[in-house]
Amino acid sequence: MKEISLRYIKGVGPRKEAVFNSLGVYALRDLLYYFPFRYEDRRNFKNIKDLVVDEFSVVKGVVSARNLKKMPYFLHSKGVKSIFEVILDDKTGHIKCNWFNQAYLFDSIKPGEQLIVYGKPSVFRNNLQLVSPEYEFAEGGESLNLGRIIGIYRLPSQLSQKFMRKIIFFIFKNYSVDYPDPLPFHIRKEKDILNIAKSLEEIHFPSSWQEVERARERFIFEELFFSQILVYLRKAKHCLQKGVDFVIRGKELNTVKDNLSFTLTSSQEKVLSQILDDFRKSYPMRRLLQGDVGCGKTVVAGFAISICADSGWQAAVMVPTEVLAYQHKETLDRMFEGLDFVSKNGREQAVKVITSSLSRKEADKIYSDLAEGKVKVIIGTHSLIQKNIKFKKLGLIVIDEQHKFGVAQRALLIEKGEVYPHCLIMSATPIPRSLALSLYGDLDISIINKMPEGRVLAETIWVKEKKRNWVYDFIQEQLLKGRQSYVIYPVIEESQDEELKSLKVMYDKIAKRFSSFSVGMFHGKMKNKHKMEVIKAFKDKRIDVLVSTTVVEVGVNIENATTMVVENPERFGLAQLHQLRGRVQRSTYQPYFILISKDNLSSDSLSRLEIISNESCGFKIAEEDLKLRGPGDFFGNLQHGLPDLKIASPLRDLEILKEARLFAYKVIKSDPYLQKTCHRCIKESVDLYIKKQYNINIA
Ligand code: ADP
Ligand code: MG
Repeated sequence: MKEISLRYIKGVGPRKEAVFNSLGVYALRDLLYYFPFRYEDRRNFKNIKDLVVDEFSVVKGVVSARNLKKMPYFLHSKGVKSIFEVILDDKTGHIKCNWFNQAYLFDSIKPGEQLIVYGKPSVFRNNLQLVSPEYEFAEGGESLNLGRIIGIYRLPSQLSQKFMRKIIFFIFKNYSVDYPDPLPFHIRKEKDILNIAKSLEEIHFPSSWQEVERARERFIFEELFFSQILVYLRKAKHCLQKGVDFVIRGKELNTVKDNLSFTLTSSQEKVLSQILDDFRKSYPMRRLLQGDVGCGKTVVAGFAISICADSGWQAAVMVPTEVLAYQHKETLDRMFEGLDFVSKNGREQAVKVITSSLSRKEADKIYSDLAEGKVKVIIGTHSLIQKNIKFKKLGLIVIDEQHKFGVAQRALLIEKGEVYPHCLIMSATPIPRSLALSLYGDLDISIINKMPEGRVLAETIWVKEKKRNWVYDFIQEQLLKGRQSYVIYPVIEESQDEELKSLKVMYDKIAKRFSSFSVGMFHGKMKNKHKMEVIKAFKDKRIDVLVSTTVVEVGVNIENATTMVVENPERFGLAQLHQLRGRVQRSTYQPYFILISKDNLSSDSLSRLEIISNESCGFKIAEEDLKLRGPGDFFGNLQHGLPDLKIASPLRDLEILKEARLFAYKVIKSDPYLQKTCHRCIKESVDLYIKKQYNINIA
């Protein structure tokens, strides 16, 4: 099929073409792949006498009368300028239809005309009427909008449903839609899949519910199949890379273990051995380490880092916040005590933190020490990917809290190695396995599914405003017992939104209420140096109550802080609430997670707060979150670098996903470069994806 510009299609033009472009539709093919998201059955014509209030119906009749009422000027302010009325007659009765502000209809809908209308009958002065029904002339040609199952598209206001159907129908009629099928014949045959031309027609203009279901299934399979082909291509390309050779010395590992004040859980041990196995392979490790908040991912990464540095290579650890960077340095320094590379280079040099708040001189020194290989481990925020950062021998990168970064950033860091470094990616946003497979299928996945011994789950208490004093008394009790507390606010300053509690306003109240204790403040707008001081003071128990925004959400680890109050919890996402709760589940004291919500909640907020109150498992919460939000929202494509799924939903279509994954695996295994004639169709589609600039290189 020849590709022509959309704008040259009858009725489109440059303006509408631009709108289509904004939907990611550039070519005819894109347009045909812009599928309806739902369907309406408009096949059932009803006799006018049988119409029922509020029941959507299709009616065919003859226009017996019409009238255009222009409204007086003083009514214009109410938005009504004109009403066009039509009386529609079939053999059984008549009904009035009216349209507001569409005076132009007077010229097209004339007495004697056969009209099909679709709408919801309502009662007006004891008679049924149809207000602004969809309409179409029955005579001549095929009806696209009524009298059949019709597709409903997600469209911006500049494009109407009718226009969309007309354009797509026009394409079917005037261009032979003879795309080569992207799915190879042998797969279509094996799975008994509809061919592409028929599927496209059925998905836009279904001939029956069964056929549209078959068509949808075909495209769901196709979409998942290609996402998995891309994943396996990435993986195949990656396995051809030569990995860095690390030397694993048992003695050193034991030293690190001895430096810990606890023993590893069996879960941690298992993941560690998976990582060691990766290091022994010929190609670089690419492992996603998932585990609920507080399960102890950092120490596992610490072992990997120690092996890297001990083998004479450098490691880079990317984290989302500076507080976390310094916290990791502390952990690693403790773990690495007594290792050769530390004794040789000095503790000061071995592990360094680079942040944007260092002075020019300090930063320059780190750049040069890093380039010369004197610094063995560097921990930093986004500042790690800037140009000045050069390594002598980068052997391992660790990305903590990966949901805060995108694949592009990961790629930039990887590129800093002379050779392809090992990669450990950590995430506390647990992803249900099906989704993990489809999005991160090119990574090996490890899961820490056990918490360290003795951890106590937080008791989640959800109250409304009127119990505020009770909450304060409760905190006071905890403080008197020697514990510390967080109080979290959604915003720093007061805003337009009067329902939102702000940190600065509430800080004074909290400070007053807890005047016999020390109350500190912590938020994202503070200078970094100041932030460090506050966190240190909180850690050293010089602050009892920390009034904060969600910046403490990621990673901050203060064991004695065992109560957290969250204000306006209805404003937070499920994942975020779960992360916050993770902050107080780090000790053996009973922790409390207290939510003070406003009184009237939307049903969405209500469901979220109910889930967080009743569920403590991160994986279950993530699954619920997915159901509420849909996968599109859950993870942007920035994070996984695959095309967004348009019709498939990995959770709902899990079985199809598994099948598609297997087919994709067989294809790439037998033909990793897609050179076989029977796979040419796959290659062409893959090239198309690449042309569309999805980041499917090895990042
Ligand atoms: P996360 O997985 O959320 O990043 P961290 O790595 O920050 O969790 O660990 C949380 C806390 O648990 C830290 O204080 C850490 O020292 C502690 N910890 C980790 N592993 C164990 C263990 N096996 N036994 C006891 N405490 C542990
Ligand atoms: Mg962590």
